[in-house]
Amino acid sequence: MYKFDAGKIQVGISGCLLGQKVRFDGGHKRSDFCTEELARLVDFVPVCPEMAIGLSSPRPSIRLVQRDADVLAITANGQDVTAPLRDYGRQLVGRLGYLSGYILCAKSPSCGMERVRVYHASGEGCEKSGVGVYAAELMRSHPLLPVEEDGRLNDPLIRENFITRLYAYHDWQSLVHQGITPARLIDFHSRYKYLLLAHHRSSYLRLGQLLSDLSAEPEHKARHYIEGLMAALARQASRSNHTNVLQHLQGYFKQQLNSRQRQELAHTIHQYQDGLLPLLAPITLLRHYLAEYPNEYLQRQVYLNPHPETLRLRYGI
Ligand code: SF4
Repeated sequence: MYKFDAGKIQVGISGCLLGQKVRFDGGHKRSDFCTEELARLVDFVPVCPEMAIGLSSPRPSIRLVQRDADVLAITANGQDVTAPLRDYGRQLVGRLGYLSGYILCAKSPSCGMERVRVYHASGEGCEKSGVGVYAAELMRSHPLLPVEEDGRLNDPLIRENFITRLYAYHDWQSLVHQGITPARLIDFHSRYKYLLLAHHRSSYLRLGQLLSDLSAEPEHKARHYIEGLMAALARQASRSNHTNVLQHLQGYFKQQLNSRQRQELAHTIHQYQDGLLPLLAPITLLRHYLAEYPNEYLQRQVYLNPHPETLRLRYGI
């Protein structure tokens, strides 16, 4: 029986992405990023819903088919497996609250997160408008859970965004596990301020306001807070928002840096702003000055270290 563990991040994943030979054609869809990079940092929990409902590998392929108002999962030999997939999803996802994220196999009628082909009942033509039957149950029952697809994770911005959300959500789950108090909630928010500002300025202002008075309904506010935080982090942090945050952080060193150092930092931030350097460059310089001139508030900012360096996520953005 799996349960939440503050010391390790557990991530659900479509089994075929880990190299398990569970696909309809007897093969797999191994993801190099998941198996070679992410697997060093997280514990994967593989699930193949089609195998779990008793289908074999190989097996007849499944399609989503529009029949009147319903979208059904139909095998190539005409079997309707919608109900077994949905029922399996419903009973399993209720037990997945310990996961901090989920990686789904794209385009699958069971696992696809979005844009899955839905065929017309006539068999002629399709729309890329569906969601896999299992994936739909997962996302409905865990709306805050960071979820991504294997193909989309090849995009550096989407990958960085997903991993940022994964680590933030695990951090939040650890807080919940420890027990939320007003002081811990304020402390959590203070660590996330600059990350929030980079992703969505109005959420940064609104969530700060939400926590300004925790004398009444702290649990209710905590729930609104994490909903707002996860929604804000799901937005891409733009280059101009990052630049704004970097300039804020630069201000903390006004007194300590000499004129050459100040110019170097400002120049590096401008080069990032102009797309000539990756985000890692100004962040590295800021971390360097932070080591030289310690500031406890800044050292605790998640923005400066949102995920492990070994993933090299800020090299490409
Ligand atoms: S996409 Fe999902 S259902 Fe299909 S083989 Fe992979 S894990 Fe199984």
